[in-house]
Amino acid sequence: MITIENLVKRYTQDNADFLAVDNVSMEVGKGEICVLLGPSGCGKTTTLKIINRLISPTSGKICIDGQDTGKFDVVALRRSIGYVIQQVGLFPNMTIEQNIGVVPRLLGWDASRIRRRAAELLEIVALDPAVFLKRYPKQLSGGQQQRVGVARALAADPPVMLMDEPFGAIDPINREAIQDEFLKIQRAVKKTIMFVSHDIDEAVKMADKIAIFRAGKLEQFDAPDRILSAPANEFVANFVGRDRALKRLRLLTAADALAPGFAPGAGRAPATLSATDDLRIVVSLLYTHGVNSLPCSDEAGQHVGYVTQQRIGELLGAARS
Ligand code: ADP
Ligand code: MG
Repeated sequence: MITIENLVKRYTQDNADFLAVDNVSMEVGKGEICVLLGPSGCGKTTTLKIINRLISPTSGKICIDGQDTGKFDVVALRRSIGYVIQQVGLFPNMTIEQNIGVVPRLLGWDASRIRRRAAELLEIVALDPAVFLKRYPKQLSGGQQQRVGVARALAADPPVMLMDEPFGAIDPINREAIQDEFLKIQRAVKKTIMFVSHDIDEAVKMADKIAIFRAGKLEQFDAPDRILSAPANEFVANFVGRDRALKRLRLLTAADALAPGFAPGAGRAPATLSATDDLRIVVSLLYTHGVNSLPCSDEAGQHVGYVTQQRIGELLGAARS
């Protein structure tokens, strides 16, 4: 668990003081992804770098699992925290295997253990070890380098990961794919992750919690569905966008939209929903079949009720402004 308490970072620019981080407090649970979201210059990177003490705070404190990071040995602290940045930062003169092995080497692992770990991590990020272990970074595409960056950060199995716009430089299509891949990895490894983004869609997709920053201040700290359905103020509402009802569709499932007491008319249903389908799929099926309702089954194939257009409308009503 990461606890941030009254964090402040003061800088001087053009002979005037300003707060890059302005009294920020939040708590991120073990195994959760917290996305720090906000426009450029709002203090996201500064907050991240204070966590691994690349920057020291003016005041306030950060605890990891209840222990004050200010009292850790800096080197030990950084080894226990994986760090991924947008400009991947792979060492150009080292092979992929050597790049992934940087921290394990510092930890004194022997060569065969490092090789096994590098191969295992390449498999995890969907790169064939037989092809990639001996290559150099410049022989890889941007997306592949980014995956190696993630593998390298995971190398020593740190409980905490800091990721600063890790997929920012990747084109939209590959970006979706690498986000999906990363979420799959996360379900297996369950790290506690602070993830910086300026993209609301990425945040909604990745986050258990979203922290929205503006000029160093934390404007809202909430689950994605709450950010979309109940933005705390005008700034958050504008930042998440007018189409936030649409964005919520991906967060809600057929099971959330079962209409109470709905009695279907005669005739066979053209399709059956599964309870875990997200509402984008549901809406597109309703639309494709030109119907107002569809039956829904659970994992065991048991009928659990009907999803209706009206019920979906009611659910989204909360998000209309
Ligand atoms: P973000 O990552 O959200 O884009 P940053 O955390 O990098 O923003 O920066 C927050 C603010 O602090 C910006 O206005 C930036 O110009 C300023 N800043 C960052 N580092 C320094 C520094 N070393 N000295 C003075 N100002 C800085
Ligand atoms: Mg930044």
